[in-house]
Amino acid sequence: MEKKEFKSESKRLLDLMINSIYTNKDIFLRELISNSSDALDKVYYKSLTDKNLKIDKDDLVINLGFDKDSKTITISDNGIGMNKDELVDNLGTIAKSGSLSFKESMTEEEKKNIIGQFGVGFYSAFMVAKKIEVLSKSVDEDVAYLWESEGVDGYTIKKADKKTRGTTITLYLNDDDEEFNYSKYLDEYELKSLVKKYSDYVQFPIKMEVTHSKLKEKKNKDDKDEYEDVKEIETLNSQTPIWKKNKNDVTEEDYNNFYMDKFSDYDKPLKVITTSVEGLTTYKALLFIPSHAPYDYYTKEYEKGLSLYSNGVLIMDKCSDLLPDYFSFVKGVVDSEDLSLNISREMLQESRSLKIIAKNIDTKIHNELKDMLDNNRDKYIEFFQTFGTQLKYGVYNNYGMDKDKVSDLIMFYSSNKEKLITLDEYVKDMKENQDKIYYISGESLEKVKNMPQVEMVKEKGFDILFLTEYVDEFAITALQKFDDKEFINIEKDVDLDSEEEKEKLKKTNEKNKDLLSSMKDIIKDVSEVKFTNRLKKYPVCLTTKGDVSIEMQKVFDSMPNQMGIKAETILEINEKHPISKKIKKLYKEDKKSFDKYTKILYSQAKIIAGLPVDDASEISNLICDELSK
Ligand code: ADP
Ligand code: MG
Repeated sequence: MEKKEFKSESKRLLDLMINSIYTNKDIFLRELISNSSDALDKVYYKSLTDKNLKIDKDDLVINLGFDKDSKTITISDNGIGMNKDELVDNLGTIAKSGSLSFKESMTEEEKKNIIGQFGVGFYSAFMVAKKIEVLSKSVDEDVAYLWESEGVDGYTIKKADKKTRGTTITLYLNDDDEEFNYSKYLDEYELKSLVKKYSDYVQFPIKMEVTHSKLKEKKNKDDKDEYEDVKEIETLNSQTPIWKKNKNDVTEEDYNNFYMDKFSDYDKPLKVITTSVEGLTTYKALLFIPSHAPYDYYTKEYEKGLSLYSNGVLIMDKCSDLLPDYFSFVKGVVDSEDLSLNISREMLQESRSLKIIAKNIDTKIHNELKDMLDNNRDKYIEFFQTFGTQLKYGVYNNYGMDKDKVSDLIMFYSSNKEKLITLDEYVKDMKENQDKIYYISGESLEKVKNMPQVEMVKEKGFDILFLTEYVDEFAITALQKFDDKEFINIEKDVDLDSEEEKEKLKKTNEKNKDLLSSMKDIIKDVSEVKFTNRLKKYPVCLTTKGDVSIEMQKVFDSMPNQMGIKAETILEINEKHPISKKIKKLYKEDKKSFDKYTKILYSQAKIIAGLPVDDASEISNLICDELSK
């Protein structure tokens, strides 16, 4: 028996490994299974060139087992195995990867299946084990060796008994302590779930003896049902990932089932997107647009992200860097050989490959949605009704940096077409004398349609976008322009009058300067009172100037920490409405009623705009006074 110390730098590295590289203890199993998978690959590869070695691929297997009494877990394979020198070299030196050197002899295609390359994965087992035994017999030799280590102190190596080729690793689990319950791994269900989660797509079968409860065979027909525990060997992993299968071999239903199973949805997805890229960065992605928002989608708990795999082995469950916020509803998996397994979150974020993949995925989703919009309108509308808010949110989120990335995908309700249209469609159908995009916002379509400001713009034949969601106006404000056309909120000043009309109105307003300013004094809240041409049947309306519209003010008012942001409002009175004449008359003859009328008119304007009337009982008394006259 030989006793050896780890090389000194290895000691420090080992300490670092165990305590900081991996934050998640569960991944030890993934690492050891991946090593076994590599070993199986290697022996198969060897058999292709070595005439004396006959191997049937179907015999290659990884066996998993556990023993509650000795508190051990075993992982064994009939792979290539290690001789004495290899045990010393590969396991005695941290950051030495036998797989990396092996890979050098392989072609690009053959390399693809080998997972290891950094030479650190094996040591992750020390996160959960106080002692590790590696019993191995190399395919080239008749003697087997046992490598044993209890962590940083070093390891021993001695000849041992093993008849068959391959490696068996035994982990003696740490004792449970306050921080961690290591014995949880001594459980069939736990191990099964870990294999499913991290190693489901390892190409060789991972088998374990499991216990099933089965109905006992009956001696007599009338015997009662009796159950017994039966032990059976079960393959735990599904082996070939659906995204690696030939596209022609996978049906729509297969994709749907995979989606529903993996992302626990009871509904099939609205759209399946597959993509396979080879080149500087090679990867496959399988993406899904859900048909409905996940139940927690609009809560803080929702985490966006795609499952990231390195050659079929899970690296990260929800890699958020792979999805922009505006596509946060997309689910799916990305598998790339260019990413290594032993990569920390921080390193991953800096990874160039990951950035390239993320950018490509962004473009891919965008193109697929655009294609749906152009060629399958009904389906797109269905999608937009579910996730459109998120797209619009994406326009103004991130300080408006992403505003142009999705502006061609968002839709608003058109007053002329009476349905959702894109901004592109609005601009294409603009009238010859029109150079602006008109919109107005309000709580519901019904309400916006009946806003006093809408009448005149509609009469001139201009289309108006009706914004009914609170994100809408923020998105439009962030966009500022579309196709070089400015957005105009028709709640504010819109310049639609002819020169002649404008001149006439200016004169009226000047002539009634005193009347208007005394109205303003009575109301106080508004910054201006004026006569207007923009109304037809309505007597009054409330408009705004400045950046904050009435709808925005409502959003601000509803926020928990109100910032006191108020819209600057103007009360406009319909010049052609009989009420104008009446007011002028009262101003001259009956100041008391003039005061009452002013208050009533202002509260009317507020009600139409959907704003609360502060002094509701006073106003209703005033109205009643007038009615009883
Ligand atoms: P990596 O897998 O990144 O190379 P590891 O620390 O996981 O690094 O493993 C180190 C090396 O030990 C591997 O490259 C391989 O040569 C050898 N090895 C580990 N497990 C096995 C095994 N089950 N069978 C044969 N060789 C193994
Ligand atoms: Mg490894």
